[in-house]
Amino acid sequence: MKNWDKDTICIQGGYEPGNGEPRVLPIYQSTTYKYDSAEELAKLFDLETPGHMYTRISNPTVEYVERKIADLEGGIGAMMTSSGQAASFISVFNITSAGDNFVMMSNLYGGTTNLFLVTMKRMGIEARIANPDMTDEEFLSLFDERTRCFFGETIANPSLEIFDFDRFIPLVHGKGVPVIIDNTFATPILCNPIVLGADIVVHSTTKYMDGHAEVVGGVIVDGGTFDWEKDGKYPELSEPDESYHGVVYTKEFGKAAYITKARTQLMRDLGTTVQPIAAFLINNGLETLGLRIRKHSENALEVAKYLLSRTDLVESVSYPGLVGDKEHEKALKYLKDGLSSGVVSFSVKGGREKAMAFMNALKLAAIVIHVADVRTCVLNPASTTHRQLSDEMLEKAGIEPGFVRLSVGIEDKKDIIRDIDEAFEACR
Ligand SMILES: *Cc1c(COP(=O)(O)O)cnc(C)c1O
Repeated sequence: MKNWDKDTICIQGGYEPGNGEPRVLPIYQSTTYKYDSAEELAKLFDLETPGHMYTRISNPTVEYVERKIADLEGGIGAMMTSSGQAASFISVFNITSAGDNFVMMSNLYGGTTNLFLVTMKRMGIEARIANPDMTDEEFLSLFDERTRCFFGETIANPSLEIFDFDRFIPLVHGKGVPVIIDNTFATPILCNPIVLGADIVVHSTTKYMDGHAEVVGGVIVDGGTFDWEKDGKYPELSEPDESYHGVVYTKEFGKAAYITKARTQLMRDLGTTVQPIAAFLINNGLETLGLRIRKHSENALEVAKYLLSRTDLVESVSYPGLVGDKEHEKALKYLKDGLSSGVVSFSVKGGREKAMAFMNALKLAAIVIHVADVRTCVLNPASTTHRQLSDEMLEKAGIEPGFVRLSVGIEDKKDIIRDIDEAFEACR
């Protein structure tokens, strides 16, 4: 890898055309690959030589984008998936079996929480819940000899709490297990969890990486940092894989054992593959990621300051970039220049009814189930994703009825603020 800055990797990383080749990443829209001899193909199947054999497992377009993302995160390899959910699932399932457990942070994205607590439970894998307010002793007591990993989020969706890397990573490593971080909201521009000590990073590329709300996708990045052989805790990686004539991933692939197994075994078997055209679109998004995430963050900070000034209508504002926010210190410590992405949470005075009236009155900001794209959008969990809950149950879930999650886009900030201002006036 060249010693490029991240903004350069965003544009020129991954695909580097040779003489006379297309300047722009080509879409290799082919499910299969031609080889001259049956012997060559047999070697591919035995994982003896690298190469593409079938697009469910790998594809040149996808591989170039994977290289770009691995470079952006400071990892040794990456594997794109059909969605962020698939990335989160494979990242944990790659190193767990029935009877094992892992520790998750309480503030994870709702979809991840459901996957871990409900669906993976049915596979016999137990997720144990940690929270940032626990003492070290309480946190460590969640781990036992069957604990296989820890999973946290850099900027939690939607609470916007920031993961305390310096506090938790040494505790987890002290228990001999790897740290997996969902870095979706921060993006590799604002934070590199691997540089901060994490071992594996996952993303929903659906959010800022694509950035235009066009394709659902995910990615797993391997830091190549974890010693999978040390305690014999990861037989999937350090003992023969019968489905590949007894290959031992740690022996054959060294530092890349984890990501190689994720691809050759789990992607082969589960088929949660990203399509080449989707990888191409995500790559288009990645080219401007550096520019966009700065603008999202700048706009969001201005919007958060405006909301804070409306004490007549707004109960509370949460944005890690705000001076005085309870997460601000960690934002300055872990996020580049304290930039905190485009998501702002706030609570409207007057509860659920008022929040819905306010959202209905917005003209530029649209009501959608999405965050983190170029267009400003809003979501009120009480009337959508958490609609079935009573106000009392919402409170228990830590969601105020008037809670609004605003994903600030990259339109002109004056227009975004005017839209909010006019919506407040309209529903007074
Ligand atoms: C959206 C999201 C996911 C899930 O990703 P999909 O691409 O929707 O499957 C996971 N983690 C976070 C933080 C998200 O915001």
